[in-house]
Amino acid sequence: MGRAKKAVMSASPTLSHAWRSLALLASASALSATVPRTAAPPGIEVHGRPSSTLALPFPELKELVGGAGRARSVWDAVRAGEEPLDSDLVTIGARRALIACGATRFVPATLAETHVAKDGTTKLLVRLADGLAVEAVLIPHPTRPRTTLCVSSQVGCDRGCRFCATARMGLVRQLTADEILAQFAIAARVARESDAMPPLTNIVFMGMGDAGRNVDHVKAAATSLVDGDKFRMARSKITISTVGPSPEAFAALADADGMLAWSIHAADEDLRRKLVPSSRHPLPELRRGLIDALEARPARRRTLMLAATLIRDVNDSDDDAAKLAEFIGPIVDAAGKCNVDLIPCNPTDHTDFESPSTERVLAYAAKIRELEPRVHVATRLQRGDDESAACGQLLVSRKPELVA
Ligand code: SF4
Repeated sequence: MGRAKKAVMSASPTLSHAWRSLALLASASALSATVPRTAAPPGIEVHGRPSSTLALPFPELKELVGGAGRARSVWDAVRAGEEPLDSDLVTIGARRALIACGATRFVPATLAETHVAKDGTTKLLVRLADGLAVEAVLIPHPTRPRTTLCVSSQVGCDRGCRFCATARMGLVRQLTADEILAQFAIAARVARESDAMPPLTNIVFMGMGDAGRNVDHVKAAATSLVDGDKFRMARSKITISTVGPSPEAFAALADADGMLAWSIHAADEDLRRKLVPSSRHPLPELRRGLIDALEARPARRRTLMLAATLIRDVNDSDDDAAKLAEFIGPIVDAAGKCNVDLIPCNPTDHTDFESPSTERVLAYAAKIRELEPRVHVATRLQRGDDESAACGQLLVSRKPELVA
């Protein structure tokens, strides 16, 4: 049994001092997170009730600020990367109306830190109004003129994936749709101001947290992203990823604006439960839930991504690939078009897991293609490792006060 193989079977690895502080914080948070809370960002009031800002439907904003021209000026500022309440792009009438509704900010987050890796991957630490922080990562394509943003959907995560740094935080709280959208607004400005970065065109919900555990806010954010009066993104450029907490979570995501993605990691029941210890449903049950969700979507929107984080000597063998290829057959039947995304695990200080060799990843991919030729298999380069740009690593390497 290899070192990593042992790690997945054993108890948690030794924690460093900083980690111990964070772990204490996380466990305290976990106590209060039994029922995940959603903090109110500095929002506005409409007819005496708290309202969202970025996620507010355009017709409601129009009514609020007193006309389409005023509402459009607010969104011109957001798309330009400016805070509307401070922006000259926004009409005075619109600003006065927002302030009269109690708004102190329209974009309820600020950029706290930026880390740029050698390959251009840019990790953003985004500070929320209550002092908590989340990560968003800009990933420029190495050869094509496009940049993908990976956003967080929760502060921390309760799914407990053994290879994931964020899992160590536990769930601190849910993000609101406004807070998810704020990451996009901030990242779009960073991308635009960078000389080297291609335009931000794609977004994936694969940062901190599980989109399947914060469905309502994730769906509201996606709807705002594709709104022609707001962020104006193409639906096909949005990917909503979940580890698949339950068949019900897939059902709830069925009508989301964007492509669905299932982070499956392994098709062997025992191994998957070790990698994703929060799993409560057998894999065939989850597969049925996903197929039902796909079949509830219009045929042209059934394209699916299946993601597997590959860990050396844990889930990267030809046998693991063969099991995955066999398991996904019925999903491919339903999806029509299916991409399998292979992500070599990013080693962290906090686990013994190691990344597979490039040859092993390619062999795994070849086995999938051989046994399930209908899928497109992509192997992701590791991006941004020199600046701790893997999932959850920037935030958890910061001081605890950043997440308190
Ligand atoms: S990999 Fe994703 S779902 Fe799993 S613990 Fe990390 S953030 Fe949560």
